[in-house]
Amino acid sequence: MHNVVIIGSGCAGNTAAIYTSRANLQPLVLMGKEVGGQLSLTTLVENFPGFPEGIDGPVLVQRMREQAEHFGTTYRNAEVTKADLSKRPFRLEIDGEEWIETRTLIVASGASARWLGLPSEQKLIGKGVSSCATCDGFFYRGKQIMVIGGGDSAMEEANFLTRFGQKVTLVHRRDEFRASKIMLDRVRANPKIEMLTNTVVDEVMDPAKDIVTGVKLRNIQTGETYERQVEGFFVAIGHIPNTRVFGNQLDLDPDGYIVSHGGARTNITGVFYAGDVQDRTYRQAITASGAGCMAAIEAERFLEHEGH
Ligand code: NAP
Repeated sequence: MHNVVIIGSGCAGNTAAIYTSRANLQPLVLMGKEVGGQLSLTTLVENFPGFPEGIDGPVLVQRMREQAEHFGTTYRNAEVTKADLSKRPFRLEIDGEEWIETRTLIVASGASARWLGLPSEQKLIGKGVSSCATCDGFFYRGKQIMVIGGGDSAMEEANFLTRFGQKVTLVHRRDEFRASKIMLDRVRANPKIEMLTNTVVDEVMDPAKDIVTGVKLRNIQTGETYERQVEGFFVAIGHIPNTRVFGNQLDLDPDGYIVSHGGARTNITGVFYAGDVQDRTYRQAITASGAGCMAAIEAERFLEHEGH
C-alpha cells in the first residue's frame, strides 16, 4: 500500500514528488506516456526563476526528478489504465495488468497535444505531420515548414523551426493572436517566417503517397482556396487534459479539465490535482510546480489527519 501515488512526471508531478518524499512519504510516480511532460518537448525555458541564462526544458525536468529521487521517490515507467476511486484505499490498474493501492492520489497527468482532426493529418502523423518541433524539427533541414496556431506554442515552434527550415509559414485562423507580445514580436521580426492569417487548413497532402507534400489552405474572409508545397507540418493549437481514465469519478468541466474543490482538492477526499490537468489559464512550468507543491502539502496534511 502506497501513501502517495503521483500520476504524471512533468513539473507538477515532480514537484509533488519532491515535497512528499521530503516529508518521508515515499511517493511512487507513474510517469505516463509523455515522460517529463510538456517541458520535455520544449527548448529553452527563459522564465523559470533561478536560471537567468535560461535552461533547457528536458534538463530542468530531469533535475527535478533527480531531486525527488534524492529524497526517496520511486519512478515507474508505467501508465494508469483504470482507476477505482469509489472507496479508500484507491485502486489503480497499471499498464492493464496489475492493480496497486494508495491512500492518497495526486493527479498531475497534464494535457496532450490537440490535433486539427483532419483524416489526412491523422494518417500522416510521423510522416511529415508533428506536434513537437523539438522532437522532429531536425528532419526538415532546408525544407518548407508550416506551423498551425496563434498561441505562444505556435510562435515558439515557428521561431525554433527557422533553425532548420528554408522557410517557415505560420498559419492562423484569425488575425488576432493569443500569443504574448514578446513571442509574437520575435516571429514578426524573423525574416524566415511568413504569416498567413484568417487562414485554415482544409487538407494535408498527400495521404496516398504516405508523406506530406503540401497543404490545401482556405482564406476564411475571401473564401479563396489554394495549395502550398510543404514537407514539415507542425500543429501547435493547444492541448487536451489527460483525464479519460477517471471517467465520471472526478468532477471534470466540459473540456475534461479537473474542477477544483478548493486548494488542490478534487471532489473526492484524498484525491488531489496539480498542473495542466486542471489549469487551463496559466499553464506555465512555474505554476505547475507551485500546484505540485500545494497538492503535496494537502496530501501530507490529509495523511497526518488520518493518522498515517
Ligand atoms: P493556446 O494559447 O490555447 O493557443 C492555441 C491556438 O491554436 C490559438 O491561437 C487557437 O486559435 C488555435 N487553435 C485552436 N484550435 C484550433 C483549430 N481547430 N484550428 C486552428 N487553430 C486552432 O495554446 P498554446 O499556444 O499551446 O499555449 C498554451 C499555454 O502555454 C499558454 O498559456 C501559453 O502562454 C503557454 N506557453 C508559453 C510558452 C513560453 O512562454 N515560452 C511557450 C508555449 C506555451 P484561436 O486564438 O482562434 O482560438
